Amino acid sequence: MKSVTPKIYGICGSILTIGVLLSFVVYFAFENSNQHKRDRILSSNFATIHNQIQHEIDRNLNSLFALRANFIAHKGLKRAEFNSYASYYTSKIKSIQALEWVPAVRLEERDSFELAARMEGFEDFQIKTTIGDSVIRAGSRPMYYPIYFIAPFEGNELALGYDPGETIISRQNAIEKAISTGNAIASDKITIIQKNDSLKAILVFVPVYKNKEANDQNIVGLIEGVYLMDNLIKSAVSSFDLPVSIVIKNSNGDLMFGEEPLQSKKQEYKEGKITIADQIWDLRVESSGNLDLPFVQPIWLFFISLVFTIMVVKTAYDTLANNRKALQKHVKELEQKNQDLEQYVYAVSHDLQEPLHSIQGLIGILNLEYKGKLGENGQQYLELILNSSARMRTLITNLLNYGRLGQEQTSDHVNTDAVLDKVRQDLHQIIEQSGTQIIQHTTLPELKAYPTALHQLFQNLISNAIKFQPPGGKPIIEISANWENNRWIFTFKDNGIGIPKEFQKDIFVIFRRLHGNSEYSGTGVGLANCKKIVGLHNGEIWVESEKDKGSSFFFTLNLS
Ligand code: ADP
Repeated sequence: MKSVTPKIYGICGSILTIGVLLSFVVYFAFENSNQHKRDRILSSNFATIHNQIQHEIDRNLNSLFALRANFIAHKGLKRAEFNSYASYYTSKIKSIQALEWVPAVRLEERDSFELAARMEGFEDFQIKTTIGDSVIRAGSRPMYYPIYFIAPFEGNELALGYDPGETIISRQNAIEKAISTGNAIASDKITIIQKNDSLKAILVFVPVYKNKEANDQNIVGLIEGVYLMDNLIKSAVSSFDLPVSIVIKNSNGDLMFGEEPLQSKKQEYKEGKITIADQIWDLRVESSGNLDLPFVQPIWLFFISLVFTIMVVKTAYDTLANNRKALQKHVKELEQKNQDLEQYVYAVSHDLQEPLHSIQGLIGILNLEYKGKLGENGQQYLELILNSSARMRTLITNLLNYGRLGQEQTSDHVNTDAVLDKVRQDLHQIIEQSGTQIIQHTTLPELKAYPTALHQLFQNLISNAIKFQPPGGKPIIEISANWENNRWIFTFKDNGIGIPKEFQKDIFVIFRRLHGNSEYSGTGVGLANCKKIVGLHNGEIWVESEKDKGSSFFFTLNLS
């Protein structure tokens, strides 16, 4: 029973291990599936945001082209006309900071152009530029592009007269590219003079020509759109409550929108390119950490699974421990009953001896005193009574011995080879008389055993092998011991009469015999004794045999 507790720990340990492993599997499976969901959501957010920005830019470019169409249709616009068209678009499209008309002014037209503007009411008007902090009249150049009409004017007054392309190479490039291609071309990042320095903005130029040919000879001027990046992106991305943040950088890596991602924070993000009036920028959509919220948290599942495992282990442990207790109780009861039974058998056989003694004594006297007086029949009856009481005496003695088996013995390291030798010596007379040949195939081992009981076991098996021979048969007994599956298996094989299959179980039951006493003498206790002795050694005994083909008795000894 002692080995049951480690078994319970083993079972509970296995359940615990499997449970913990399963918890990890659940954790990683959900983590993985959440990761996929997050990736999908990020990708779909990226696509939505990309489309919305692109759509907003198209709307703005369309308004610039529409303004150009008005310009061409009217063969030039007056300031008031420009203002009325432009304010229509600025009121409709909130992301426009300003729409401007930038005429192409040749050097020789400059003075008259400035004069005309002053006449219009813009005192001190001049085509100007900034050098450091000071604003000065632009130097001599073949062509100027001064800002002339501005809608809305209010808040953007400062821009009047500025030549957006004069000093800044990237704007010059944008203007030149717009003029030579006829397309809408955006400048690189600018800081607009009307507003706070830190606001990032872009200018988009759409050229207007005298006729259909797009070249610098034909250029009349440019429609210019001014856009604050913040306004542009915020009015583009309607669903700004998405759990994402947007970062846009231009081709130089300058930040155009959003904030530089924190290096320390491991953000999940999706990146791609976005084209804004010929400028190709990087758009990056980052999860702002809330993407996990709608999903089952793997770590919670892990803990739930762990708690569940612990509950299962606890239940298993309680159940097994209770079963073990019940089993221990049963075994104890059984042991007690067995002991009672053995004591009972012992007591009965012991008590029976005494009256049997008297019966045998009295029959002895009867035989002595009445010999010859009883007649032939009487004498025969008397002999029968004598034989029967002698047999009864043997039976009772055997029963007593059976009950005594295993009671007083102490186990020891026993050389079973020596035990076999001793048995052969004890049986030498009968061995010689019967012409028995004993062949030992292996040396027999030394092991822990009850020496007297073992002696009896060997003796019973050998005497049976000699006894159960066909008439005139010469017994051959082969003995060996082999180490198999961590225990010794002994074999006693004979060439005797064999045992039919159907009786092979019965022969180990006490008093069970397969033959009459006249055929083969005996009391049917020998193999019952063998079984009990092997049991004392935590072993098993069995027979393999066929009628008329000899028998092999096997037994294991496993005393620790
Ligand atoms: P007993 O030898 O007193 O008859 P056992 O308990 O030793 O009682 O054996 C029970 C029965 O098993 C025997 O009566 C016999 O029929 C059978 N038996 C035992 N050993 C052998 C054997 N070696 N060969 C054939 N039969 C055997």
